[in-house]
Amino acid sequence: MQQVDTLILHSLIVTMDPAGTIIEDGGLAITGTSITAVGSSEVLEQQFQADQTIDAGGGILMPGLINAHVHSGDLLFRGLVPDIELEPWLEQLWVAEGEYVTPENMLLAVQTAMLEMIRGGITTALDMFWYPDIYASAAEKLPFRLITGPVYLTLGGQENNAGQARLEAARAFLDMYRGSELIRPCLMPHGTYTVAPDDLLETWQLAEEYDALLHIHLSETRTEVATVEERYGRRPPAHLDSLGMLSPRTILAHGVHLEQEEIELLTERGASLVHCPVSNLKLASGIAPVPALLETGVPVLLGTDGPASSNDLDLWIVLRFAATLHKAVSGDPVFLPAEQALRMVTSTAAEALGIGHLVGSLEPGKRADVILIDTKKPHLTPLYNVYSHLVYAAGRGDIETVLINGRIVLEKGKFTTIDEAGIIAEVHELGKNIAAFMAAQKTGSRQRTQ
Ligand SMILES: [Zn+2]
Repeated sequence: MQQVDTLILHSLIVTMDPAGTIIEDGGLAITGTSITAVGSSEVLEQQFQADQTIDAGGGILMPGLINAHVHSGDLLFRGLVPDIELEPWLEQLWVAEGEYVTPENMLLAVQTAMLEMIRGGITTALDMFWYPDIYASAAEKLPFRLITGPVYLTLGGQENNAGQARLEAARAFLDMYRGSELIRPCLMPHGTYTVAPDDLLETWQLAEEYDALLHIHLSETRTEVATVEERYGRRPPAHLDSLGMLSPRTILAHGVHLEQEEIELLTERGASLVHCPVSNLKLASGIAPVPALLETGVPVLLGTDGPASSNDLDLWIVLRFAATLHKAVSGDPVFLPAEQALRMVTSTAAEALGIGHLVGSLEPGKRADVILIDTKKPHLTPLYNVYSHLVYAAGRGDIETVLINGRIVLEKGKFTTIDEAGIIAEVHELGKNIAAFMAAQKTGSRQRTQ
């Protein structure tokens, strides 16, 4: 008998491997951070003995989900500015951010966001916000797998360190997390309308030097496209391309307003696009041309966007929107089958983010980022096609147990490494202060205009 740390037995395994292998009454053997074996429970029980054994009780075992676009720090401002357009929404949000984005508050925000994401079966996030070092150390402690890094916003940022100081801070972060097990450093210029060309180029040079991803908003609204066109004489994709910034290391968020030739350009350059349908619908930004993107060959990932814009970090809802919205828009019920949709938050996402060798599927040698879904629920009964269940019926309330990097983080609905109730209480208190500050701002601006 081979000794392993953890055995998970008696589950329906949806591996998301290239062949789409599904194993009934299957399990996993886990040693340290990684998967040692995937197979039938009977065979695993004969081959391995473990320090701890989890009986999955027939639940679905699958790779943890990848949220490819989020701004965790904005969690403090969830629901603060409802139901308005993106640009005035951003203006109000930036007032609140200017006052409350501090290292201490960001720690609370990112911890709460990670709690929310883990409860929702997300084990990896591409997260754009200030103070990436605070994000990274919180993620390492939890643990949680995070792709994050220096944010660039030429209009001024909360860290207030433009120029040489910003470059040094960026290098320090990239040096510190190069080779980290859980943190993958990347460059995060906010957008082509919010970052000057020189600053964009600085992020690109760093991305190339450190062999890192570059994540940027692209063509989210008509106003953004018009602004960039007026300023530089080119639409956002051509503007980025003129700076040499479209490549397989480029991960674009949104891409709502793309023309066919722009989609072809993205394909030629090998860039990937993160579709955020729930955020785009709520802010009335539009509907991204996902059928054309997939047909032309652009890898499409899914993201919740930040909790200030799309209000929750529920990737299951995003997945269901992505899998249904484009069927309705194209009039084609066959478009984007459930398995392919599910790959957008697992294997396809992992490949596009350069971590396909680590996560995105359950295979021997990969890191054990695993979620267990309780299927003893009325809405998951009966079960004929597991992909259909996962995309059209399952939700974050069904997540029972989560392992990240081989470690049990959520066990039967309870966090094992972090004080969830304490953090939630602190954020509620902070929220009262933020509400009072915003109310005072409104009174102040009314007085000024009178
Ligand atoms: Zn965003």
